[in-house]
Amino acid sequence: MAKYKLEYIWLDGYTPVPNLRGKTQVKEFANFPALDELPLWGFDGSSTQQAEGRSSDCVLKPVAIYPDTTRKNGAIVMCEVMMPDGVTPHPTNGRATILDDTGAWFGFEQEYFFYQDGRPLGFPQDGFPSIGQGPYYCGVGYRTMGDIGRQIVEEHLDLCLDAGINHEGINAEVAKGQWEFQIFGKGSKRAADEMWVARYLLNRVCEKYGIDVNYHCKPLGDSDWNGSGMHANFSTEYLREKGGKEYFEALMAAFGEHTEEHIAVYGPDNHMRLTGLHETQSIDKFTYGLADRGASVRIPHSFMKNDYKGYLEDRRPNSQGDPYQIASRILKTISLVPAP
Ligand code: ADP
Ligand code: MN
Ligand code: MN
Ligand code: MN
Repeated sequence: MAKYKLEYIWLDGYTPVPNLRGKTQVKEFANFPALDELPLWGFDGSSTQQAEGRSSDCVLKPVAIYPDTTRKNGAIVMCEVMMPDGVTPHPTNGRATILDDTGAWFGFEQEYFFYQDGRPLGFPQDGFPSIGQGPYYCGVGYRTMGDIGRQIVEEHLDLCLDAGINHEGINAEVAKGQWEFQIFGKGSKRAADEMWVARYLLNRVCEKYGIDVNYHCKPLGDSDWNGSGMHANFSTEYLREKGGKEYFEALMAAFGEHTEEHIAVYGPDNHMRLTGLHETQSIDKFTYGLADRGASVRIPHSFMKNDYKGYLEDRRPNSQGDPYQIASRILKTISLVPAP
Protein backbone atom coordinates (compact mmCIF):
# COMPACT_ATOMS: atom_id res chain seq x y z
CA MET A 1 0.00 0.00 0.00
CA ALA A 2 1.10 3.57 -0.61
CA LYS A 3 -0.34 6.96 0.18
CA TYR A 4 -1.30 8.72 -3.05
CA LYS A 5 -1.65 12.49 -3.39
CA LEU A 6 -4.75 13.02 -5.46
CA GLU A 7 -5.08 16.54 -6.80
CA TYR A 8 -8.79 16.92 -7.57
CA ILE A 9 -9.12 19.76 -10.10
CA TRP A 10 -12.29 21.43 -11.40
CA LEU A 11 -13.60 24.55 -13.12
CA ASP A 12 -15.08 27.30 -10.96
CA GLY A 13 -18.17 29.41 -11.65
CA TYR A 14 -16.49 32.62 -12.82
CA THR A 15 -17.70 34.21 -16.04
CA PRO A 16 -17.09 34.74 -18.88
CA VAL A 17 -14.57 31.93 -18.47
CA PRO A 18 -13.95 29.57 -15.60
CA ASN A 19 -10.70 29.28 -13.64
CA LEU A 20 -9.02 26.07 -12.59
CA ARG A 21 -9.16 25.11 -8.93
CA GLY A 22 -7.54 22.16 -7.18
CA LYS A 23 -7.03 20.59 -3.77
CA THR A 24 -5.27 17.50 -2.55
CA GLN A 25 -6.73 14.41 -0.95
CA VAL A 26 -4.34 11.77 0.45
CA LYS A 27 -5.58 8.19 0.15
CA GLU A 28 -4.07 4.76 0.39
CA PHE A 29 -4.08 2.36 -2.57
CA ALA A 30 -2.20 -0.81 -3.46
CA ASN A 31 -1.36 0.56 -6.96
CA PHE A 32 -1.92 3.71 -8.96
CA PRO A 33 -5.70 4.07 -8.56
CA ALA A 34 -8.18 3.49 -11.36
CA LEU A 35 -10.92 6.03 -12.02
CA ASP A 36 -13.63 3.84 -10.49
CA GLU A 37 -11.68 3.58 -7.22
CA LEU A 38 -11.80 7.33 -6.66
CA PRO A 39 -14.45 8.65 -4.28
CA LEU A 40 -16.67 11.66 -4.85
CA TRP A 41 -15.44 14.68 -2.91
CA GLY A 42 -16.82 18.11 -2.00
CA PHE A 43 -15.80 21.75 -1.82
CA ASP A 44 -17.15 25.08 -0.66
CA GLY A 45 -18.99 26.46 -3.66
CA SER A 46 -19.46 29.85 -2.00
CA SER A 47 -15.74 30.53 -2.58
CA THR A 48 -15.89 29.69 -6.28
CA GLN A 49 -19.12 31.41 -7.33
CA GLN A 50 -20.89 28.06 -7.45
CA ALA A 51 -23.13 28.31 -4.37
CA GLU A 52 -24.61 30.63 -1.77
CA GLY A 53 -22.97 30.76 1.66
CA ARG A 54 -25.86 29.11 3.50
CA SER A 55 -25.90 25.90 1.51
CA SER A 56 -22.50 25.84 -0.07
CA ASP A 57 -21.56 22.22 -0.70
CA CYS A 58 -20.79 21.18 -4.26
CA VAL A 59 -19.73 17.69 -5.29
CA LEU A 60 -16.61 16.73 -7.26
CA LYS A 61 -17.08 13.73 -9.52
CA PRO A 62 -13.83 12.28 -10.90
CA VAL A 63 -13.93 11.81 -14.70
CA ALA A 64 -10.26 11.15 -15.56
CA ILE A 65 -6.99 10.47 -13.73
CA TYR A 66 -3.42 11.33 -14.81
CA PRO A 67 -0.04 10.54 -13.21
CA ASP A 68 1.65 13.64 -11.74
CA THR A 69 5.40 13.03 -11.79
CA THR A 70 6.19 16.24 -9.91
CA ARG A 71 4.98 14.62 -6.69
CA LYS A 72 5.81 11.29 -5.12
CA ASN A 73 2.76 9.07 -5.73
CA GLY A 74 0.98 12.01 -7.30
CA ALA A 75 -2.11 12.06 -9.50
CA ILE A 76 -4.26 14.74 -11.10
CA VAL A 77 -7.95 13.94 -11.01
CA MET A 78 -10.12 15.89 -13.45
CA CYS A 79 -13.58 16.39 -11.96
CA GLU A 80 -17.03 17.51 -13.02
CA VAL A 81 -18.91 19.72 -10.56
CA MET A 82 -22.21 18.20 -9.45
CA MET A 83 -25.11 19.38 -7.31
CA PRO A 84 -25.27 18.11 -3.69
CA ASP A 85 -27.22 15.02 -4.86
CA GLY A 86 -24.04 13.92 -6.66
CA VAL A 87 -25.86 13.07 -9.89
CA THR A 88 -27.26 16.34 -11.28
CA PRO A 89 -24.64 18.38 -13.16
CA HIS A 90 -24.07 21.84 -11.69
CA PRO A 91 -25.13 24.68 -14.06
CA THR A 92 -21.42 25.59 -14.49
CA ASN A 93 -20.59 22.05 -15.63
CA GLY A 94 -19.91 22.54 -19.35
CA ARG A 95 -18.46 19.06 -19.79
CA ALA A 96 -21.83 17.49 -18.99
CA THR A 97 -23.35 19.28 -22.02
CA ILE A 98 -21.03 17.60 -24.55
CA LEU A 99 -22.84 15.03 -26.70
CA ASP A 100 -21.30 11.59 -26.32
CA ASP A 101 -19.68 10.53 -29.56
CA THR A 102 -16.75 8.11 -29.57
CA GLY A 103 -16.21 8.90 -33.28
CA ALA A 104 -15.69 12.64 -32.67
CA TRP A 105 -12.05 13.76 -32.70
CA PHE A 106 -10.75 17.17 -31.65
CA GLY A 107 -7.34 18.80 -31.98
CA PHE A 108 -6.87 22.08 -30.09
CA GLU A 109 -3.98 24.48 -30.74
CA GLN A 110 -3.45 26.52 -27.59
CA GLU A 111 -1.65 29.84 -28.03
CA TYR A 112 -0.68 31.92 -24.99
CA PHE A 113 1.74 34.55 -23.70
CA PHE A 114 4.14 34.27 -20.80
CA TYR A 115 3.70 37.37 -18.63
CA GLN A 116 5.88 38.94 -15.99
CA ASP A 117 5.45 42.33 -14.30
CA GLY A 118 2.35 43.02 -16.38
CA ARG A 119 3.96 42.59 -19.79
CA PRO A 120 4.97 39.77 -22.14
CA LEU A 121 8.13 37.97 -21.06
CA GLY A 122 11.09 39.68 -22.72
CA PHE A 123 9.34 43.01 -23.34
CA PRO A 124 11.19 46.08 -22.04
CA GLN A 125 9.71 47.94 -19.08
CA ASP A 126 8.36 50.62 -21.39
CA GLY A 127 7.22 50.32 -24.95
CA PHE A 128 7.99 47.47 -27.27
CA PRO A 129 11.00 45.27 -28.09
CA SER A 130 13.46 46.82 -30.55
CA ILE A 131 12.80 43.92 -32.90
CA GLY A 132 9.16 43.84 -34.07
CA GLN A 133 7.25 40.75 -35.15
CA GLY A 134 9.05 38.57 -37.65
CA PRO A 135 11.82 36.50 -36.07
CA TYR A 136 9.94 34.96 -33.14
CA TYR A 137 7.70 32.41 -34.91
CA CYS A 138 9.48 29.04 -34.60
CA GLY A 139 12.58 31.06 -33.76
CA VAL A 140 15.79 30.09 -32.05
CA GLY A 141 18.49 32.04 -30.24
CA TYR A 142 18.71 34.15 -27.11
CA ARG A 143 18.24 37.50 -28.87
CA THR A 144 14.73 36.58 -29.97
CA MET A 145 13.68 33.80 -27.61
CA GLY A 146 15.27 34.82 -24.31
CA ASP A 147 16.24 32.10 -21.83
CA ILE A 148 13.35 31.06 -19.58
CA GLY A 149 10.46 30.61 -22.02
CA ARG A 150 11.73 27.51 -23.75
CA GLN A 151 12.79 25.99 -20.43
CA ILE A 152 9.20 26.20 -19.17
CA VAL A 153 7.79 24.96 -22.45
CA GLU A 154 10.06 21.89 -22.40
CA GLU A 155 9.31 21.14 -18.76
CA HIS A 156 5.59 21.43 -19.46
CA LEU A 157 5.84 19.13 -22.48
CA ASP A 158 7.54 16.43 -20.40
CA LEU A 159 4.96 16.71 -17.62
CA CYS A 160 2.12 16.36 -20.16
CA LEU A 161 3.73 13.28 -21.71
CA ASP A 162 4.36 11.78 -18.26
CA ALA A 163 0.68 12.36 -17.49
CA GLY A 164 -0.34 10.42 -20.61
CA ILE A 165 -1.76 13.52 -22.30
CA ASN A 166 -1.79 13.24 -26.07
CA HIS A 167 0.33 16.35 -26.52
CA GLU A 168 1.23 16.63 -30.21
CA GLY A 169 3.73 19.44 -30.42
CA ILE A 170 4.96 22.90 -29.53
CA ASN A 171 6.07 26.00 -31.40
CA ALA A 172 7.17 29.51 -30.59
CA GLU A 173 4.56 31.94 -31.92
CA VAL A 174 4.54 35.19 -33.85
CA ALA A 175 4.85 37.60 -30.90
CA LYS A 176 7.71 37.77 -28.43
CA GLY A 177 6.87 35.72 -25.34
CA GLN A 178 4.10 33.85 -27.19
CA TRP A 179 3.98 30.05 -27.58
CA GLU A 180 1.64 27.27 -28.73
CA PHE A 181 1.02 23.63 -27.96
CA GLN A 182 -1.36 21.16 -29.58
CA ILE A 183 -3.47 18.42 -28.05
CA PHE A 184 -5.41 15.82 -30.00
CA GLY A 185 -7.97 13.36 -28.65
CA LYS A 186 -10.41 10.74 -29.90
CA GLY A 187 -13.86 10.86 -28.33
CA SER A 188 -15.92 13.99 -27.80
CA LYS A 189 -14.50 14.89 -24.36
CA ARG A 190 -10.94 13.60 -24.40
CA ALA A 191 -9.04 16.47 -26.02
CA ALA A 192 -10.97 19.01 -23.91
CA ASP A 193 -10.16 17.11 -20.68
CA GLU A 194 -6.50 16.93 -21.62
CA MET A 195 -6.40 20.60 -22.60
CA TRP A 196 -7.66 21.63 -19.17
CA VAL A 197 -5.13 19.36 -17.46
CA ALA A 198 -2.36 20.72 -19.71
CA ARG A 199 -3.38 24.28 -18.79
CA TYR A 200 -3.32 23.27 -15.13
CA LEU A 201 0.21 21.87 -15.47
CA LEU A 202 1.41 24.95 -17.35
CA ASN A 203 0.02 27.34 -14.75
CA ARG A 204 1.62 25.30 -12.00
CA VAL A 205 5.06 24.99 -13.62
CA CYS A 206 5.05 28.76 -14.10
CA GLU A 207 4.54 29.42 -10.39
CA LYS A 208 8.13 28.61 -9.49
CA TYR A 209 9.49 30.90 -12.23
CA GLY A 210 7.43 33.84 -11.01
CA ILE A 211 5.75 33.96 -14.41
CA ASP A 212 2.06 33.89 -15.31
CA VAL A 213 0.33 32.52 -18.37
CA ASN A 214 -1.77 35.18 -20.05
CA TYR A 215 -4.54 33.43 -21.98
CA HIS A 216 -6.24 36.64 -23.12
CA CYS A 217 -6.87 36.67 -26.86
CA LYS A 218 -5.41 40.12 -27.45
CA PRO A 219 -3.24 41.10 -24.47
CA LEU A 220 -1.48 43.84 -26.46
CA GLY A 221 -4.78 45.34 -27.58
CA ASP A 222 -5.14 47.19 -30.82
CA SER A 223 -1.48 46.98 -31.81
CA ASP A 224 0.49 45.27 -34.52
CA TRP A 225 1.22 42.38 -32.17
CA ASN A 226 -0.64 39.11 -32.77
CA GLY A 227 -3.37 37.84 -30.51
CA SER A 228 -3.82 34.27 -29.29
CA GLY A 229 -6.26 31.69 -30.56
CA MET A 230 -7.18 28.13 -29.82
CA HIS A 231 -8.04 26.74 -33.26
CA ALA A 232 -10.41 23.79 -32.93
CA ASN A 233 -9.77 21.05 -35.47
CA PHE A 234 -12.61 18.56 -35.57
CA SER A 235 -13.94 15.52 -37.37
CA THR A 236 -16.64 12.91 -36.90
CA GLU A 237 -16.71 9.38 -38.19
CA TYR A 238 -19.13 10.50 -40.91
CA LEU A 239 -16.87 13.39 -41.98
CA ARG A 240 -13.86 11.10 -42.15
CA GLU A 241 -15.47 8.09 -43.82
CA LYS A 242 -18.32 9.44 -45.98
CA GLY A 243 -18.16 13.24 -46.16
CA GLY A 244 -18.99 14.60 -49.62
CA LYS A 245 -19.63 18.05 -51.04
CA GLU A 246 -23.36 18.08 -50.29
CA TYR A 247 -22.89 17.17 -46.62
CA PHE A 248 -19.99 19.58 -46.21
CA GLU A 249 -22.01 22.48 -47.63
CA ALA A 250 -25.00 21.66 -45.41
CA LEU A 251 -22.65 21.55 -42.42
CA MET A 252 -21.12 24.92 -43.24
CA ALA A 253 -24.62 26.39 -43.75
CA ALA A 254 -25.51 25.24 -40.21
CA PHE A 255 -22.30 26.77 -38.84
CA GLY A 256 -23.19 30.01 -40.65
CA GLU A 257 -26.72 30.03 -39.22
CA HIS A 258 -25.43 29.56 -35.68
CA THR A 259 -22.53 32.01 -35.83
CA GLU A 260 -23.73 33.87 -32.73
CA GLU A 261 -24.06 30.75 -30.58
CA HIS A 262 -20.57 29.66 -31.61
CA ILE A 263 -18.99 33.05 -30.94
CA ALA A 264 -20.75 33.15 -27.54
CA VAL A 265 -18.60 30.23 -26.31
CA TYR A 266 -15.44 30.86 -28.34
CA GLY A 267 -13.84 32.99 -25.62
CA PRO A 268 -14.27 36.56 -24.31
CA ASP A 269 -13.18 39.73 -26.11
CA ASN A 270 -12.95 37.89 -29.41
CA HIS A 271 -14.00 41.06 -31.28
CA MET A 272 -10.52 42.37 -30.43
CA ARG A 273 -8.91 39.42 -32.20
CA LEU A 274 -11.31 38.52 -35.02
CA THR A 275 -10.78 41.71 -36.97
CA GLY A 276 -10.06 40.38 -40.45
CA LEU A 277 -6.35 41.11 -39.85
CA HIS A 278 -3.54 38.88 -38.51
CA GLU A 279 -4.87 35.69 -40.17
CA THR A 280 -8.45 36.02 -38.87
CA GLN A 281 -11.91 36.61 -40.27
CA SER A 282 -14.13 39.38 -38.82
CA ILE A 283 -16.22 38.29 -35.87
CA ASP A 284 -19.54 39.02 -37.61
CA LYS A 285 -18.75 37.10 -40.78
CA PHE A 286 -18.76 33.38 -41.40
CA THR A 287 -16.64 32.13 -44.30
CA TYR A 288 -14.76 28.99 -45.21
CA GLY A 289 -12.00 28.41 -47.69
CA LEU A 290 -9.35 26.03 -48.93
CA ALA A 291 -6.12 26.54 -46.97
CA ASP A 292 -7.48 30.02 -46.13
CA ARG A 293 -6.10 31.33 -42.85
CA GLY A 294 -8.26 34.42 -43.22
CA ALA A 295 -11.48 32.34 -43.16
CA SER A 296 -13.58 31.36 -40.14
CA VAL A 297 -13.19 27.69 -41.08
CA ARG A 298 -10.11 26.52 -42.95
CA ILE A 299 -10.43 23.48 -45.19
CA PRO A 300 -7.14 21.57 -45.22
CA HIS A 301 -5.82 20.49 -48.63
CA SER A 302 -6.16 16.86 -47.52
CA PHE A 303 -9.93 17.35 -47.13
CA MET A 304 -10.41 18.44 -50.76
CA LYS A 305 -8.00 15.82 -52.10
CA ASN A 306 -10.04 13.18 -50.28
CA ASP A 307 -13.30 14.27 -51.90
CA TYR A 308 -14.59 16.31 -48.93
CA LYS A 309 -13.50 13.80 -46.29
CA GLY A 310 -11.39 14.41 -43.21
CA TYR A 311 -11.20 17.19 -40.62
CA LEU A 312 -11.93 20.91 -40.60
CA GLU A 313 -10.34 23.76 -38.65
CA ASP A 314 -12.57 26.29 -36.89
CA ARG A 315 -10.15 29.20 -36.46
CA ARG A 316 -12.44 31.36 -34.34
CA PRO A 317 -12.12 29.89 -30.81
CA ASN A 318 -9.69 31.98 -28.79
CA SER A 319 -6.98 31.16 -26.32
CA GLN A 320 -9.19 31.82 -23.30
CA GLY A 321 -12.11 29.73 -24.54
CA ASP A 322 -13.34 26.74 -22.55
CA PRO A 323 -12.66 23.64 -24.69
CA TYR A 324 -15.67 21.92 -23.09
CA GLN A 325 -18.07 24.61 -24.26
CA ILE A 326 -16.36 24.79 -27.66
CA ALA A 327 -16.57 21.02 -28.27
CA SER A 328 -20.14 21.03 -26.99
CA ARG A 329 -21.25 23.74 -29.44
CA ILE A 330 -19.46 22.24 -32.45
CA LEU A 331 -21.06 18.82 -31.85
CA LYS A 332 -24.47 20.43 -31.29
CA THR A 333 -24.30 22.19 -34.66
CA ILE A 334 -23.07 19.03 -36.38
CA SER A 335 -26.00 17.10 -34.86
CA LEU A 336 -28.44 19.50 -36.54
CA VAL A 337 -27.31 18.37 -39.99
CA PRO A 338 -28.82 15.07 -41.10
CA ALA A 339 -26.39 12.81 -42.94
CA PRO A 340 -27.71 12.32 -46.48
P1 ADP B 1 -1.78 24.58 -38.10
O1 ADP B 1 -0.97 25.43 -37.17
O2 ADP B 1 -1.26 24.53 -39.50
O3 ADP B 1 -3.25 24.90 -38.08
P2 ADP B 1 -1.26 22.31 -36.24
O4 ADP B 1 -0.38 21.18 -36.62
O5 ADP B 1 -0.82 23.26 -35.20
O6 ADP B 1 -1.66 23.04 -37.63
O7 ADP B 1 -2.66 21.73 -35.76
C1 ADP B 1 -3.42 20.82 -36.51
C2 ADP B 1 -4.32 20.06 -35.58
O8 ADP B 1 -5.26 19.25 -36.30
C3 ADP B 1 -3.59 19.14 -34.64
O9 ADP B 1 -3.97 19.46 -33.30
C4 ADP B 1 -4.11 17.75 -35.04
O10 ADP B 1 -4.17 16.91 -33.94
C5 ADP B 1 -5.49 18.06 -35.56
N1 ADP B 1 -6.05 17.00 -36.41
C6 ADP B 1 -5.41 16.27 -37.36
N2 ADP B 1 -6.23 15.35 -37.90
C7 ADP B 1 -7.45 15.50 -37.28
C8 ADP B 1 -8.72 14.84 -37.39
N3 ADP B 1 -8.94 13.84 -38.27
N4 ADP B 1 -9.74 15.25 -36.59
C9 ADP B 1 -9.54 16.26 -35.72
N5 ADP B 1 -8.37 16.92 -35.58
C10 ADP B 1 -7.33 16.56 -36.34
MN1 MN C 1 -0.78 25.40 -35.07
MN1 MN D 1 -0.54 29.11 -34.04
MN1 MN E 1 -4.32 26.17 -36.79
